[in-house]
Amino acid sequence: MTIKVLYIEDNDQNFYLVNYILNAKGYTMIRAHDGREGIDLATREIPDLILLDIQLPVMDGYMTAQELRKITEVKAIPIVALTSYAMAGDREKALAAGCNGYIEKPINPKTFTEQIGRFLQEDSSRSAGG
Ligand code: MN
Repeated sequence: MTIKVLYIEDNDQNFYLVNYILNAKGYTMIRAHDGREGIDLATREIPDLILLDIQLPVMDGYMTAQELRKITEVKAIPIVALTSYAMAGDREKALAAGCNGYIEKPINPKTFTEQIGRFLQEDSSRSAGG
């Protein structure tokens, strides 16, 4: 059973690094380049986890998270915000928007899989979406 991860990220380098790390762990990666595409792909693919950049074109990550939480098929999927914003209050904003957690960029390749694994485990009661 493959873990499917949707990463909503407009920056190629950020995506490639996470893609490399998670591919090596056997995860299936899906990419969206902006919030609107992310919402479409989340609804179509029902991933096990959504990684969400905050600085995005079209709509920002906070708004994207809010929209994802309104979709019945999607709202139980854990969302982890990935952002380089280091300002105080961003964590709270991400959580208030519906994210389950927050990881600061640059990510640490050595601990990243473990960090996101925590969110997958919290979600283990949810039946596999197919
Ligand atoms: Mn960005």
